[in-house]
Amino acid sequence: MAKLAFVSHDDKILTTPLPPFPGRLTKAEKRELERMSDLLLDMPNAIAIAAPQVGIPIRAFTVRDGGGAYVMVDPVVVWHSDSDPDEIILGEGNIPIPRRAPSWEQCLSIPGVEHLVIRPMLLKLEYSTLKGIRHRASYHGFHARVVAHEVDHLNGILISDLSSGHRELGEDDQDKPCM
Ligand SMILES: [Zn+2]
Repeated sequence: MAKLAFVSHDDKILTTPLPPFPGRLTKAEKRELERMSDLLLDMPNAIAIAAPQVGIPIRAFTVRDGGGAYVMVDPVVVWHSDSDPDEIILGEGNIPIPRRAPSWEQCLSIPGVEHLVIRPMLLKLEYSTLKGIRHRASYHGFHARVVAHEVDHLNGILISDLSSGHRELGEDDQDKPCM
């Protein structure tokens, strides 16, 4: 079986929202998504890969989890901390925290450049495992950023669409985390 490969940066699949998840995966689709996890684990600087980045038109992504990788299917952001400007978001110890923050992001589909992207600090996600079991999870800071970046990929949104600034990556930046 041919190795999965990243589609070119100008491939339409990267900028086209995927249709809603049809409710279940075929065996062949599950295998494709498992191969996406294998590809992720082969790339030391990759944190996550969304299915459309490797030409798979399924609402799913895989993320690094300890020494392995974990596929999240039909992910839905059910809440994030930047949805209501009047809401005060409390962190640990009931101390207010910023609703959102800027940070540089590198995308595996846009090599050689990084973009400054403002993202919510906190995010709640519903998703299914490859076995079809639905879960809900909360993410904070960098983890919330990764999840938001991946969900954007499923909706045809790239960091270049959200950019508050960009800069070229130098040779010293080649091992920066990418997603
Ligand atoms: Zn990306």
